[in-house]
Parts: sequence; structure tokens; C-alpha cells
Amino acid sequence: MQVQETREVACPQCGEHSTIPVPEGDVELKISPYVAAFGDHTELECSNEHTFWVYYC
Ligand SMILES: [Zn+2]
Repeated sequence: MQVQETREVACPQCGEHSTIPVPEGDVELKISPYVAAFGDHTELECSNEHTFWVYYC
């Protein structure tokens, strides 16, 4: 059974915080307002309907 942790990230456009699951405790998160074609990532939408992407580095 895989243990998942959660991390709080801020929307790059408005600063609204969202909670996302992360696969490992020591993974580094990189927030991007654009989608890129590399790495594991999650697409998020903040409560103000801004879409952004979080990459696991
Ligand atoms: Zn936002």
C-alpha cells in the first residue's frame, strides 16, 4: 500500500492555496502556469478557476 502525503501549493496567479497529494515526502514541487511535456505532473485548478501545473522534480 502506497503512502501518500499532501502538500500545500499556492496558485501562481492569485496565491490561493490548494492541497495536492505527493508521491514521496522529499519530492520537490515546481509550480508552472504552463504545461510542459516532461516529468510527472498534476493539473490543478484553484478556487478562482485558474489552471496551473505542479511538477514533481
Ligand atoms: Zn488562482
